[in-house]
Amino acid sequence: MSKIHILPENLCNKIAAGEIVERPASVVKELVENAIDAGATRIFIEAADSGRRLIRVSDNGEGMEPEDARKAFERHATSKLATEADLAAIRTMGFRGEALPSIAAVARVRMVTAQKGGAIGTEIRIHGGTVLPIKEAAAPAGTLIEVEDLFYNTPARKKFLKSNATELAHIVHTVQQQALPHPWIHFRLTHNDHLLLDFPIVRNVMERTSQVTGSDDAAGGDSDFVSVASDSGAESNGITLTGWFSKPGRFRATREHQEFFLNRRAIRNTSLSHAVNEAYGTLLAKGRHPMTYLFIEMDPASVDVNVHPAKREVRFRDTQAMHRFIKEALRERLRREGLPAVPAVSYVSDSGAASHVIKTGRPTFSDVKSLSGARPSSDPRWPEGTREAMAVYHPPEGEATSSDAAAARPATILWPIRIEPLGQVDQTYIVALVESELHLIDQHAAHERLLYERFRSQQKASEIPIQPLLIPEVVEFPTAEALRLREVLPLLGGLGLSVEEFGERSFRIRAAPAVLGVVDGRILLEDLLDDVGAGATPAAEETLQNVMASMACHAAIKAHQSLRPEQMTRLLEDLYRQEVPPTCPHGRPIRVRFSRADLEKLFQRR
Ligand code: ADP
Ligand code: MG
Repeated sequence: MSKIHILPENLCNKIAAGEIVERPASVVKELVENAIDAGATRIFIEAADSGRRLIRVSDNGEGMEPEDARKAFERHATSKLATEADLAAIRTMGFRGEALPSIAAVARVRMVTAQKGGAIGTEIRIHGGTVLPIKEAAAPAGTLIEVEDLFYNTPARKKFLKSNATELAHIVHTVQQQALPHPWIHFRLTHNDHLLLDFPIVRNVMERTSQVTGSDDAAGGDSDFVSVASDSGAESNGITLTGWFSKPGRFRATREHQEFFLNRRAIRNTSLSHAVNEAYGTLLAKGRHPMTYLFIEMDPASVDVNVHPAKREVRFRDTQAMHRFIKEALRERLRREGLPAVPAVSYVSDSGAASHVIKTGRPTFSDVKSLSGARPSSDPRWPEGTREAMAVYHPPEGEATSSDAAAARPATILWPIRIEPLGQVDQTYIVALVESELHLIDQHAAHERLLYERFRSQQKASEIPIQPLLIPEVVEFPTAEALRLREVLPLLGGLGLSVEEFGERSFRIRAAPAVLGVVDGRILLEDLLDDVGAGATPAAEETLQNVMASMACHAAIKAHQSLRPEQMTRLLEDLYRQEVPPTCPHGRPIRVRFSRADLEKLFQRR
């Protein structure tokens, strides 16, 4: 007896759903794509319980006649593709004819649709893939689809869903991604009857980007961003590029804020990300990524969008040409902004020495507090620890001369180990003599580890000294990030970072852990959100550690930062006084040692 049989259609749909419907946001994506393809100028999305209980998408598009309404839920039923030739040049968002049957296989679906011109509408209900009797219904032109109890019949899938906040953030992100390249469509998202996003029709993607990011950045009002437009030369062989991307001051810790759109479809493509990195070149520090919103338009025949079931990935016919085009367009704009990818490195230290290796005679044990001048740290009301953190490694603005420092230096400090910083290499690695060994120390990794350890012991002892911000800083975030931030607020509070809600998407930073020193509130919070990631559980120990590591990283002295001799001394003293793990919290080594024996071996004396 033959053992192979054809799977029933219902089962096929469930299997396809596994690839297409990963989470509530995938349903939103597919339904919104259909509405876009139907020529809608208004797409309203409602969700309840982060889309688990209900997702409702209504549009004012062309609607369907009764016969089509029924067919739409059949497998491989599509109006967007007729011949094989069509597949080679897709101009619509959808084309696979799989979304509706897949969704209907794993949820309870109701659709009401009517065509323009007053035709009577059709209502269809499908429960777990079974079509219930079709009815006529009075309805406005357009289509409304309700998806209830997603994954009610696939419990395994349901278990994979993340926290409510995370699923909602995915929905928000999905709607933003659809809204960005379609400025002529009015998008609105409500959640549990609460308005989250509202993007009325605007003239172009630049204005839409402003709506989505909640700032004037894209409109050219903010100098943190560079815009690129096809009329400014970003055009080649029928490919046009529009959009904007951030200058080094607005880099982020993840690539999450890099959006690419190809013919109005949000895509991921490693070659494009790579091209962006190359364009920035040495402007990029390790682990920092520019924010990019890039809209590419090209002949659909030159790209294959049928690579991924959810159509998130594409394959270019000429990947290299695309790579070159993006890289050069961005690089050219950066150059015009006076940001060449290979900046001239200044080897002049702030003490005025012409060499990047600063020679210091003896180790100097200066009282760095006296160098801190008029910084808030000298205010006696500030908690202990503040002073320490703020005075030590940040080069003070009102620079005191080293002779002032010498005058204020305490007479003697007993120090068991001889440490002599010799200078910096590339303003990143401290070269030091430690007893009779030569040490190279990664200044950022070392400081990061010290801050992290200090922070952790304070947290363990539940005694985190905080430092109120003189002027509480108000920062605004895009909706998805605001949601995530709101979730971790209590956790941050427990760590001494006091942030309060201040309107829908605004937050006020009132105080920060003293150990961090002077902080830039916006960048600190952005880094935190990036590092903590979307799937984090606020209560988890891991999240706590991540937050502390992120704050330490944020506050630590950076690579390519010039340090004065006494700053190096102080950092090294702290480092060698404590038994700290040999790596930074991210696992990179802090130092490399060469003993006398190592040197002898290197120079073949032995
Ligand atoms: P695809 O989008 O790949 O064609 P779908 O399963 O998403 O497949 O949709 C099947 C068909 O149903 C579409 O080709 C379209 O003709 C019709 N359809 C779906 N949603 C809508 C809508 N909102 N308005 C009008 N027609 C729609
Ligand atoms: Mg579709």
